[in-house]
Amino acid sequence: MQRREFIILGLLLTSAYAYAEMFQTVPEANATLIQSGKDKYTCPNCGMHLVKFYKTSHTHENHQYCSIHCLYEATQGVIPTDAKVVDTITLELIDVKKAFYVVGSKMRGTMSRTSSYAFGSEKDALTFVSDNGGKVMNFEAAYAVASEDFPKDFGKKATAPTVVPVTKIEVPKDAKCPICGMFVAKYPQWVAQFEGEKTFYFDGVKDMMKYAYARKLSSDKFYVSDYYTLSKLEASKAFYVIGSNVYGPMGAELIPFGSQEDAQNFARDHNGQKVISFDEITEAIVKSL
Ligand SMILES: [Zn+2]
Ligand SMILES: [Zn+2]
Repeated sequence: MQRREFIILGLLLTSAYAYAEMFQTVPEANATLIQSGKDKYTCPNCGMHLVKFYKTSHTHENHQYCSIHCLYEATQGVIPTDAKVVDTITLELIDVKKAFYVVGSKMRGTMSRTSSYAFGSEKDALTFVSDNGGKVMNFEAAYAVASEDFPKDFGKKATAPTVVPVTKIEVPKDAKCPICGMFVAKYPQWVAQFEGEKTFYFDGVKDMMKYAYARKLSSDKFYVSDYYTLSKLEASKAFYVIGSNVYGPMGAELIPFGSQEDAQNFARDHNGQKVISFDEITEAIVKSL
């Protein structure tokens, strides 16, 4: 083999490997991380790994967030003027005021169903749009779109709703999802659990199933939270809605309910495609989410 061909093959293999999982991920050597110490790799808002979600990461006041979603949550709707974002092409951090954002392309988003990728050059942004769809906009507009992930009264003092106490899955504050690295306690509505010799917590049924498949674990030690009541349910006895317009912290989900009727009502109200039992969940379904 010619040396040049060899190098090209090498590059192809490296990039195929690096991007096998997620578009956001880059080789660690290509990532600029501005935090230090034990927090270097972690989004301070959600706990996710910054190299895994590097392309959507943003910096602000010596912190580095995994996404414009987490930047929005940390700044509570006050547009940060010092923020920087990763240029999707060069992988350098650039001033958000000079960035061209492509919002709503078919590329997966980070922490949001609406993806948001930034480019230093308008030409690069337009090329990305012609390949993947989406709309080009400035940072302020992209930040406004990120706000749509949050309830309208976000940032105002919320009053705790009165709920009947139920048996919930109690999550330790520092517990991280073994699949995506997110702090699970932040998303009580989505909590799932594996009770083995060691207990693991997940930020959604999707990551729980990925864990179960990877380790070939049987269903009897898995628990999920009823979407309406947060009651702890045996995973094998719950009903799951797929294809709805409600998204969890990691995007499309299998949404669990204790009763088939609740699942059907939810599916009707939220454009759910199907209600399935635990036994009908397949690896192919989980992969397609
Ligand atoms: Zn984050
Ligand atoms: Zn997860």
